Amino acid sequence: MLEVLRQPLETGCVTISRASGSCTFPARFILCAAMNPCPCGRGEVELGCVCKLEEKRRYLKKLSGPLLDRIDLHVEVRQLSQDELINVPAGEPSAVIRQRVIAARKIQEARFSGIRGVYCNARMGSRELQQYCRLTPASEMLLRQAINRFKLSPRAYDRILKVARTIADLAGIAEIPESAVFEAINYRKAGF
Ligand SMILES: [Zn+2]
Repeated sequence: MLEVLRQPLETGCVTISRASGSCTFPARFILCAAMNPCPCGRGEVELGCVCKLEEKRRYLKKLSGPLLDRIDLHVEVRQLSQDELINVPAGEPSAVIRQRVIAARKIQEARFSGIRGVYCNARMGSRELQQYCRLTPASEMLLRQAINRFKLSPRAYDRILKVARTIADLAGIAEIPESAVFEAINYRKAGF
């Protein structure tokens, strides 16, 4: 079923065709999904994983490359040790993060004011990408290396730029620093 989300993830609309005709509806949404690293769920031999390499490969192959390509942030969450489970450090409060997100959205609203249909980084087209996602020579070099090494698609390239722009906005930085590009590339781990 996930595969049918490819079109709405890309275009933000869904077209339903029946004998009497076809209708297109708005379908912009945030996709959050979680999966286990392998069929047994433990992921690593040290953690008790009993899966064979081939089983693991077959399991991971259930998600197609084109679908993974459309998911911007891939975050691997490793299993916590007993110590980590018991002594969980207090994280940053959600209210503080919320303020940062609101500030970043305001930056984006101001950036795209007057541009029809674009109100946040995710909605940027190629023209906006060129205008607002200029990279420093060092960042450009880093991204070129990642493209070669991980054989990234043009879609992944655009999405990395958008994520890097957002990371910089969250930090309140006008230029996209090398660290933001590096972080954005790191969110594309699955499928490599
Ligand atoms: Zn396993």
